[in-house]
Amino acid sequence: MAVVEKQLVFTDDEKVECYVLNCPVQLDDFEMTNICFPFSSQLIEETLCGLNVTQTCNGGPSADHFKGVIVKHTNLDITNVWRHVKCPMLTSGNSQKCNWCKKLFSLYRVNKQRLGSGQKKYIGPTLTPTRALRLQQMVKSKHSVQKSNLRKQNIINNLVSELSKKNEVMKMLTDASVQNILQKSNLNEPQRTLIQEIISTSKASNLTHRRYSDNWILLCILLHIRSPKEYKFLRKQQFLPLPSPKTIKRYLSLMNTTCGFDDKFFQLLKKKIDLLRTEERHGILVFDEIFLRESLSVNTNKLTYIGFEDLGDGIKSERYGEKADHGLVFLFRSLASSYSQPIAMFASKGPVPGKILAQLILKSIALLENIGAKVDGIVSDGASSNRKVWKEFGVSGEFENVKNYFTHPLDKNRNIFMFSDAPHLMKTVRNRIYNKKYLKVSWNICIIFQKWSNIFPMNKTCP
Ligand SMILES: [Zn+2]
Repeated sequence: MAVVEKQLVFTDDEKVECYVLNCPVQLDDFEMTNICFPFSSQLIEETLCGLNVTQTCNGGPSADHFKGVIVKHTNLDITNVWRHVKCPMLTSGNSQKCNWCKKLFSLYRVNKQRLGSGQKKYIGPTLTPTRALRLQQMVKSKHSVQKSNLRKQNIINNLVSELSKKNEVMKMLTDASVQNILQKSNLNEPQRTLIQEIISTSKASNLTHRRYSDNWILLCILLHIRSPKEYKFLRKQQFLPLPSPKTIKRYLSLMNTTCGFDDKFFQLLKKKIDLLRTEERHGILVFDEIFLRESLSVNTNKLTYIGFEDLGDGIKSERYGEKADHGLVFLFRSLASSYSQPIAMFASKGPVPGKILAQLILKSIALLENIGAKVDGIVSDGASSNRKVWKEFGVSGEFENVKNYFTHPLDKNRNIFMFSDAPHLMKTVRNRIYNKKYLKVSWNICIIFQKWSNIFPMNKTCP
């Protein structure tokens, strides 16, 4: 676009106006006389020469170089250059810019820098009263927010330091010191186990890979066996640090369920026996045999068959490899408490022969005595193989020659007494009287069935 730099305009009402870059200029400000009516050619020539010689102010910075930057008291002229509002358009002397426009360069540079660095525009003191009020309010609210932030930050800092202190204390709580505290308290054994478990849970960094104590796992297994439903409920509600049912299953699959004596089981039983009082460790060994249905199955964990005759390691009978139809179970029962525990199980084809039974009894006694239990007697029913066992141990119920004990195999000062199952005895005596109607107790005492007939309901078959 062509731009007219300087022009003299002769108006209709006989006046002359001067324009520089379309801005009106008073010529008498620049040592030139304002031409007025009547015009003479000499005056017009002088004025034109004077205007031609006078330098035009080049203005401030170009708008192209400072895009987006706006400075107060400036205008954009038609050549797209920023000028100060007070720019006279022409300069006196030889300088190419007026003093107003010269100052603009540094102002534009500073504003451009502020814009680039995201700095807020400086709000000068020349605010209107409403703006000043608003600014004051903003500054006030900013101060109050800063203050409350500081307070909250202080509270957070205090809490964090308190937490780290508590954590330190928790770390200092070693297992031994926890044990100490628990020993001093009036808690019983299961409660202590529970509290220890909870504390160790709180210490664990990764709950999925934590370890449980032996006692706790045993309690959990028992709870799961009693009621899987309740177990799931307690676990879901996170009342107790219970392991998952999968973990319980894994532990159960580790247990040896084969026949014979299991060393690991006796190690565990030793822990239980250690908890009993001295008098509670005395007990009776009970064994009994039951008839089983023959069946054969495969143990998928160990890839072996279940259902063959199995008398445990070390004892091989003639019928080894045949399908078992009898189960023999040994059980230890404490005399002074209600504690009882099966200790071994055997499978056999037919009743276990007396000789092998005697070996198993001796082995049971030895294993129980080794872990601290005291065997004072043996109870069994009067089955023929059991009577053979009595014979093996020299126990006899003969007339005038009763011997109901044998010397303890591990302690010469103690005896082991043999008992026949009392209800079983009564049953055999009754059956004998019922069948033969006559029982001779000694040379001059007889029991005759007729006197008992009112007790026996004759028409009923008795067990
Ligand atoms: Zn200027």
